[in-house]
Amino acid sequence: MDTPWGYPDFDAHEAVHFIDEPSVGLRAIIAIHSTHLGPSAGGCRFWHYADPSEALTDALRLSQGMSYKNAMAGLPFGGGKAVLLASPDRHKSPELLAALGKAIDGLCGRYVTAEDVGMSVSDMVEVRRQTRYVAGLPTQGGVGGDPGPHTSLGVFLGIKAAVRRALGRESVDGLHIALQGAGSVATGVAMHAFAEGAKLSIADIDQHKAKKLADTVGGKVVAPDEVLFLEADVVSPCALGAVFDEDSIARLKAPIVAGGANNQLATPADGERLHQRRILFAPDYVINAGGIISACFEYLGETQASVVRERIDGIPNRLEQIWAESAETGRDPAAVADSIARRLIGRA
Ligand code: NAD
Repeated sequence: MDTPWGYPDFDAHEAVHFIDEPSVGLRAIIAIHSTHLGPSAGGCRFWHYADPSEALTDALRLSQGMSYKNAMAGLPFGGGKAVLLASPDRHKSPELLAALGKAIDGLCGRYVTAEDVGMSVSDMVEVRRQTRYVAGLPTQGGVGGDPGPHTSLGVFLGIKAAVRRALGRESVDGLHIALQGAGSVATGVAMHAFAEGAKLSIADIDQHKAKKLADTVGGKVVAPDEVLFLEADVVSPCALGAVFDEDSIARLKAPIVAGGANNQLATPADGERLHQRRILFAPDYVINAGGIISACFEYLGETQASVVRERIDGIPNRLEQIWAESAETGRDPAAVADSIARRLIGRA
């Protein structure tokens, strides 16, 4: 394979740290993609991987995505990500979190962590005992805390922007939104959409979560392998990444893909495939920046919730600029976003 180190997802990452502390069950990878704009910032994922190479791929891709996300959101931060390899029972002890905190502290601020899939505010409180390079701690005056609701708000505003552009409608009232996932981000998106009158179809591999959310928002539970392919107005992937490839894109029926999951495209070619099918795509790291916006402002000591809100309110505008450039140049929105982001991090 003709890529440095033989990893296709390696993109001149500044550093990749492998952490192994068997006594507390900690196996982690901390990938620092870029510190061009500031300390690398990005959440910490706790996930059981069938193979450690999948964790490395995730860390490399997610940290690059964080560089792009933070740059596009105008934050003075670079991109990094921590990936913890959970045991099959996903056991997480205070000792494990303490060891993670020490490992992050050892990077002397080059990486700042927060929650991602599988990590909670209380986990961050444990990590904070060992290091100050952490955000997503209990909220202070409306700034910070769980990034999920901030991400959901940004995703919902992005969905509305996509609906405006693709369907010429100012509201999601009466529209059908197919939600993949019923976790933190999906729940917030569903609540906002429900409040505005949308009809929701919801799928999660955890049936209980899907049912609970569907009951709350008067939605319908659908099968995880069907949700992306419904006759919906919007498909909103809010679970895990790489859901769009040649096969799944060919089966999509909705005119809009706009969701919170990171790295939704399996490969860059899939952005072009969506574009060829005239499906409007909201680049994931632009639409889902709400959580990191909140975490970064919290880390910087901001106390005004309105400052965070204002930055999240800018997400539709950033998407609009990307779509406008896409329409002008014929390039797909994901490629347009990537080139803007790479310019911003000095890697044009
Ligand atoms: P979460 O763990 O709360 O929820 C994820 C949900 O997806 C879980 O309920 C899980 O059971 C479900 N799921 C997993 N695989 C699935 C599948 N194949 N089909 C249907 N459901 C499936 O996580 P979250 O915080 O809501 O994050 C969701 C996505 O958004 C992730 O990709 C995450 O990286 C991304 N994201 C989250 C935030 C945030 O602030 N939490 C910010 C930016 C991006």
